[in-house]
Amino acid sequence: MSKRRRTDDVLGSGRPGNAHAFSVEPPEKSEQLWFEDGSIVLQAENTQFKVHRSILAKNSPIFADLFKIPHPASEPTIDGCPIVHLQDSAEDVKHVLLILYGDREYVNPGRVPHFSVVAAMIRLGRKYEIDFMKDEALSRLKREFPTTLEEFDDVDRTGWTHFTFPTDTVHDRECKKLYAMIRFAYECNIRSILPSLYVELMGPARDLDNVFYLSNELPMPYDALRSFVCGRDILLSVRTQETYQWIREVGTLVSCKSRVKCSGMSRRLVLHVLNDPVYPSSVFHKWEAFEAGFENGTIKELCDPCLQYAKRAHKEAREAVWTVLPTYFKLPEWDKLTDDM
Ligand SMILES: [Zn+2]
Repeated sequence: MSKRRRTDDVLGSGRPGNAHAFSVEPPEKSEQLWFEDGSIVLQAENTQFKVHRSILAKNSPIFADLFKIPHPASEPTIDGCPIVHLQDSAEDVKHVLLILYGDREYVNPGRVPHFSVVAAMIRLGRKYEIDFMKDEALSRLKREFPTTLEEFDDVDRTGWTHFTFPTDTVHDRECKKLYAMIRFAYECNIRSILPSLYVELMGPARDLDNVFYLSNELPMPYDALRSFVCGRDILLSVRTQETYQWIREVGTLVSCKSRVKCSGMSRRLVLHVLNDPVYPSSVFHKWEAFEAGFENGTIKELCDPCLQYAKRAHKEAREAVWTVLPTYFKLPEWDKLTDDM
């Protein structure tokens, strides 16, 4: 893409003449981002930010290019500063500028940002090529919705680790927030987080009717709904036809030391899996969770060869499903599942 074209994208149709024709209220000065010695005024929606061209140009090649274009003398200025109209939300622009200006609320090490800040960092980091900002935000999203099973196992699902939401509900990683993530992943072409996200959505969205009902309120891209429903269906059949196939072997191994006890246990395990409430994502439960869910952990009473076999087969089964997981959702395989940034 040529430089000229890129800066046109930034300006969009929001050149001063157009923008003024549609604005009803006079623009407001940002309280936090209005520097007396600023050299450029950015306007997003109805908010103006008086900031420094040098700071923007240093961080963004897009702004650097934009400032090379002479400002026409006929266009209005504020305090002698040119006005650049942006097609972004005022909130996104505020978040990103506060980061560029090193605002303490934003750049304190250890501070966990709000999701709206992470989203702004990705949206604008991508558009204005502020790579450090985009990469940092992207890595937060990816750690929350990872691509490897090891990382997926380590996600703390009692809340959020790498960004926050206002804690206004009991079910913190609830449907609506996961929906917001899926919509955002589609908006910014972040495909690598989708498989994890869909698997996690299977918990709170157990009732498919809820999924469609909620999608009415918070529209999900059609492709996302289709991916989710198809993948869920495949996981359900994989769960019974592949994941727990090892149960049939328990008690029949040549090395089994207690055939009567182990085969009895095998029959009860089959019933347990069949009677379990249908959580397709239980395919990924670790052995410990499976063990705890069956007759208060009595699976430990299997003879040692059967128990070792069961643990190994369980581990191999969940890894095998994870390896091909994206294809269940009609996505490319993990190594081809790139983010179009
Ligand atoms: Zn045995």
